[in-house]
Formats: sequence, C-alpha cells, structure tokens
Amino acid sequence: MWTLKTKLTMIVQQNVSIKHLNTFGIDFKVDNYIVVDSMQVVKELSEEKKLIKHKIQVGGGSNILCIEEQLHATLIHNQLKGKKIIKETAEHVWVEIMAGEKWHDFVVYAIENNWGGVENLSLIPGTVGAAPIQNIGAYGVEVSNCIAEVHAWNWNDKESIKFNKEECKFGYRTSIFKEKWKQKILITSVVFKLDKHHHFNTTYGAITQELDKMGITTLSIKAISDAVIAIRKSKLPNPEVLGNAGSFFKNPTIKLAHFKELQKLHTLIPSFAVDAQHVKVPAGWLIEQCGWKGKKVGACGVHKDQALVLVNYGKASGRDLFNLSEAIIQDVQEKFNIELEREVQILRNTLL
Ligand SMILES: Cc1cc2nc3c(=O)[nH]c(=O)nc-3n(C[C@H](O)[C@H](O)[C@H](O)COP(=O)(O)OP(=O)(O)OC[C@H]3O[C@@H](n4cnc5c(N)ncnc54)[C@H](O)[C@@H]3O)c2cc1C
Repeated sequence: MWTLKTKLTMIVQQNVSIKHLNTFGIDFKVDNYIVVDSMQVVKELSEEKKLIKHKIQVGGGSNILCIEEQLHATLIHNQLKGKKIIKETAEHVWVEIMAGEKWHDFVVYAIENNWGGVENLSLIPGTVGAAPIQNIGAYGVEVSNCIAEVHAWNWNDKESIKFNKEECKFGYRTSIFKEKWKQKILITSVVFKLDKHHHFNTTYGAITQELDKMGITTLSIKAISDAVIAIRKSKLPNPEVLGNAGSFFKNPTIKLAHFKELQKLHTLIPSFAVDAQHVKVPAGWLIEQCGWKGKKVGACGVHKDQALVLVNYGKASGRDLFNLSEAIIQDVQEKFNIELEREVQILRNTLL
C-alpha cells in the first residue's frame, strides 16, 4: 500500500483492505480509499473524474456486503463531523448533524439535551448520513418521522443540493437516495426536527416489558433509550464479536389474498396490516420455517436466535454470505411463493 498526496487536503490510498470498515468483517480490498472530512476534500474530489467514475460511499459499513476480493472502485469514507442548532421554537428544535457523525452519538446528544424523537432508534450502528438512505427504523419508529431536510453534494453538477422531507420519498427501509440518487450524491448533513415536549412511543411490546423490568414508573426519553439499548444488547449479536449487518432481508409485503391462501396451510403465520389490500410478513419467521435458523454453512450461517441475521464466524468471504442469502431466498420462494429482498447493499464490480 502506498500513499499519494494529490493536493493540499486530499489523500488517496491505494489497494486498501476494508476489513475494519464493514461490520461483517469481510477482508476485501478497494483500488482507492479516500477519507472525506471536509467540504474542501469533497470539492477537490469532484474534479478527479477518473477517481470518482467508479465510486462507493461508506459511513460505518454496517449495511454493506462486498462479494469481491478486490473492488475496482474508489471508496469514499464519509468523516464529515459537526453539529449545530439551526432554529428553535417553544415546541421544537432543528439541528443539523454532519453525515460522518456516529448515529448513536447523535441519539445520546439529543437525549442529553432533552430533545425527543430518536430515542427508539438508540444503538443502531452506522452514521447519520446513511440513516435517511434506508430510512432506518426500530421499535415502532422510523427516522423519517423527525427528518426536516437532507443536504448532499451532487457529484455530476459539482454543487450542493437540498431535499425536503417530501422530496426524500421515504418508505419502509427505502428513500429516493436508494433509488434515483443512488451513489450520485454524497449526503453531507441531515437536519432533524426534534420535540421539546415528548411523545413517547412504547407501542412495541418489548419496550413496555423492559421498562417494567427496569422498575421505571415515570416515562422519559432516557428511560426509553435505556430500555431499547437493553433489548438490543440481549437480542442482537454484537458485530465486534460476531460479524453481521443486522437484518439481512426486508420484511416482505404481500397481497392479502396471497396471505389468506398461505394461512390455510400455515395457520400460525404472523402478519402486520399495511393497507386494506396488503400485509407485511416477518422475514425471520419465513426463514425459520424453512429450517435455516441457527444453520451453519462453512464459515457463515444464520444466527441461532435471529433468523433475519446472517453471520460471519470469522473466515467467510462476501461470496459465501451472498450464496447463503441466495439459498434462503430460493427456499422461501419455493415454500411460500414470496420473494425476499435484501436490505443489505451488495457491492460488486459489475454494479459500479
Ligand atoms: C447489529 C446491527 C443492527 C442493526 N439494526 C438496525 C435497525 O434496527 N434498523 C435499521 O434500519 N438498520 C439497522 N442496521 C443496519 C445499519 O445500521 C443501518 O442501515 C445504518 O444506517 C447504516 O449506516 P452506515 O453508516 O454503516 O452505512 P454503510 O453501511 O456505510 O452504507 C450503507 C449504504 O448507504 C450508502 N451511504 C452511506 N453513507 C452515505 C452518504 N453519506 N451519502 C450517500 N450514500 C451513503 C452506502 O453507499 C451504502 O449503499 C443494523 C446493523 C447492524 C450491524
């Protein structure tokens, strides 16, 4: 590996291992690696057509799976840091958080200031900049609830661009940034509208149980955050111990008529209403019914307690995990006629 200092601020490293920068802990290399820690670097990089022709942008690497040993791309590592209050009223505060800040650090900052809205999203790995991309969600809350604006850098036009909440086209684990603008913009900061008067969301049963266990009688955003952290720590494998990227698949939405057919054969099939014509089925349940829960295939497998979480036992390649996900998709398709969609973003040379 050698280091090339191109201009005043931008440093390009070549042939760099990204093992430390993906929570699966897969050892793959990228042709070029650049840390973006200022808008100056972003602007300089925009001028380097060759470098950014094939690029992949990464925050914490907690929602990616690379299936190549060498990714022929420039990996842009977002490290833009900072936060500021934009506006305040008696009811709300608008804060702008730079994209490279860790998501959970922002949650802690909001709670310390007694601003509500993101407490249910405690301890989700990754960065603030990636949060709008798949509209992160957990325990009855999606981040879109409190996003006011997303600020980004348009690589083509070489200028900043702003998206208001409607323009983000948020949906279940999706947004316009996963579709039309995928890899075409770098999210540089997010403006959140947080509540000074709290609206607690304890609709998710496990939160109430955990609060009871903790002996909490007076609700607060801190108590909800503590409960969520405790639940997450007890349920989800820590990527520092066991490589994973959280839920590997999205929960599929299917037609009500299809669901009713399935119910005849599988009386216990769980579901959540989406609208009058559709329901969502937990992907974890479908995978478990196909016998995958706890199964080990070579160096990777399906977590013993969470069928939605694929894990790397240490030496798996991205291709091993991808093949495992293919086998699961095929089995669920055959048994339930439901096509599972990956939540994790697959990185491969042919898609760049
Ligand atoms: C243990 C564990 C638990 C998890 N639990 C949850 C959960 O409860 N809910 C949930 O929604 N997710 C969950 N996730 C998934 C993950 O944490 C989120 O998707 C998170 O937002 C990813 O952030 P990141 O910075 O790591 O993104 P990365 O993995 O680095 O990138 C993800 C995608 O976003 C793009 N991207 C990243 N940053 C930028 C940027 N600044 N501009 C443009 N594109 C960018 C990347 O190119 C890639 O396509 C979990 C993951 C793990 C490992």
